[in-house]
Amino acid sequence: MKTGIHSEYYETSIKCACGNVIEVGSTKEDIRVEICSKCHPFFTGKQKLIDTAGRIERFRRKYEKFQNNQKK
Ligand SMILES: [Zn+2]
Repeated sequence: MKTGIHSEYYETSIKCACGNVIEVGSTKEDIRVEICSKCHPFFTGKQKLIDTAGRIERFRRKYEKFQNNQKK
């Protein structure tokens, strides 16, 4: 059987933007993610949700302005 046809299977660490490192097995050598189970809003709860609410508020204000302009 020839070698080199199939991808190597590495012991890989996924590095998240939050600093969390997850050890996994993968065919990719270096994996970087921006969100993981430790910093995902579903797991972190309030802090990220407050941030999201701020963004929604800003969007609403923009949208209201847009609607007012449409009425003219
Ligand atoms: Zn993370």
